Amino acid sequence: MKTYDIVIIGGGPAGLAAGLYAGRAKMDTLIIEKQKYGGQIVITDELENYPGSIEGETGPSLIARMVAQADKFGCERVEDTVTGVEFDGDIKKIKCTKGEYQAKAVIVTTGATHTEIGCPGEKELTGKGVSYCATCDAAFFEDFQVYVVGGGDAAVEEAMYLTKFARQVTLIHRRDQLRAARSIQEKAFANEKLDFMWNTTIEEIKGDGLVESMIVKDTQTGETREIFADEEDGTFGIFVFIGFKPLSDVFEGKLEMERGYIITDEDMHTNIPGIFAAGDIRKKSLRQVVTAAADGAIAATQAGKYIEELEGTAYKY
Ligand code: NAP
Repeated sequence: MKTYDIVIIGGGPAGLAAGLYAGRAKMDTLIIEKQKYGGQIVITDELENYPGSIEGETGPSLIARMVAQADKFGCERVEDTVTGVEFDGDIKKIKCTKGEYQAKAVIVTTGATHTEIGCPGEKELTGKGVSYCATCDAAFFEDFQVYVVGGGDAAVEEAMYLTKFARQVTLIHRRDQLRAARSIQEKAFANEKLDFMWNTTIEEIKGDGLVESMIVKDTQTGETREIFADEEDGTFGIFVFIGFKPLSDVFEGKLEMERGYIITDEDMHTNIPGIFAAGDIRKKSLRQVVTAAADGAIAATQAGKYIEELEGTAYKY
């Protein structure tokens, strides 16, 4: 079996940046991505805060260029799902559903995925009115009522995006104040198609094939009530943006973690020599594309240094 210099698990901004740096340093590099390159960012319509992107940059457009750049520097890519890892010893083994891979160093960039409300009906009606991706599903709600759940940057930005499609967007937040950045809040409060349902949580989502109603609770009084779709519409949309959870189950017991986030030092070393972590999967204070890409670059150069020490080779970054 071939031994790669570096195997990168995950093809989001952190993994692709690591692939670019490792490939450019002429390291034999493989990226394993389970499904879709880009991770969370491919469901982002507007990318205002990535340095250098001013207008018209979307998550998918940035990711397409990142993939092309990793390819240009000779980074191999494979679509596979990691099911187990063996990180002890100098040769690291990665077992996947389709094959097995091995490498001298591994960079974990598996990222995070959306959190669910966890109420009855949510799972059953996902894709039938319940969504976690505005750019994917907004068009289905042209001229319909839409509810957005959450009070952070994601919920407020996606709610504003949804106003371009929906008749009315109502943001449901469990408190009476948004968590989103002030600049984002100002735009939201000025948007006439966006209103707010404060101190409210969704307790149950109901519908036969499509969302038809939901039970909401006032978090102050504990009172519940049912909100029904307009008779003419028959349905409405519920878009959920209440944060993320780390995708690290497969590394449980193999790497040091805190609440599922992998602990690294500032050079992306985990507690196991030769294993690095980068991007949203790390315990860190700011999870954005810019910090993920930076993590990836650091992880690749540190992985290179680790291999140099292991073998006495010298890479050029
Ligand atoms: P977030 O900042 O963690 O906010 C999650 C929101 O969901 C909070 O308002 C929270 O309420 C609410 N929430 C959490 N669990 C809930 C539950 N079970 N039921 C109801 N509401 C719940 O998450 P995010 O907005 O997805 O953002 C994640 C990270 O990405 C942040 O660092 C954010 O800055 C970044 N981001 C940045 C941008 C941008 O800068 N343009 C865009 C998107 C995301 P409480 O407020 O009461 O805790």
